[in-house]
Amino acid sequence: MYNQEALVNRLHARGIRVTPQRAMILRAVEAMPGHVTAEELYAAVQAESPYVNLATVYRTLDLLKSLDLITDADMGTGATHYALRSHADHHHAICRACRHSVEFPDHLLSGLIHDLHTGYGFEAEANHIVVFGLCAACAKIEELHSSPA
Ligand SMILES: [Zn+2]
Ligand SMILES: [Zn+2]
Repeated sequence: MYNQEALVNRLHARGIRVTPQRAMILRAVEAMPGHVTAEELYAAVQAESPYVNLATVYRTLDLLKSLDLITDADMGTGATHYALRSHADHHHAICRACRHSVEFPDHLLSGLIHDLHTGYGFEAEANHIVVFGLCAACAKIEELHSSPA
């Protein structure tokens, strides 16, 4: 689990000034369980201080991303979702029918990453992958609908 001090220290270590606004956004990122959109963060920060604007939220998210402290993903909802990098390496399998999301661990991809490297010399940046498909329940429904009567 991250704490505010660790994040702030990591920013300081890289010579980045932690303004009160940035500190507030960092706190909001940490307070959010799992994934958040910039708009959700903005709403949370606004509740604390109406002087922070959405552009600052986006700039801070970009900064944190460039420092590899957060990661983002398109979860198929039209808005980018952000998660703390410390939230261990994980990926998502998202059902395109009911939007149910299953988190799966990094090691399920290790074979793919290894083969891309050995077979293609390709260095995959696979730190937050979203795979779309059908969950077991929806696959069953679809199967029922497509089977001949
Ligand atoms: Zn995630
Ligand atoms: Zn489903």
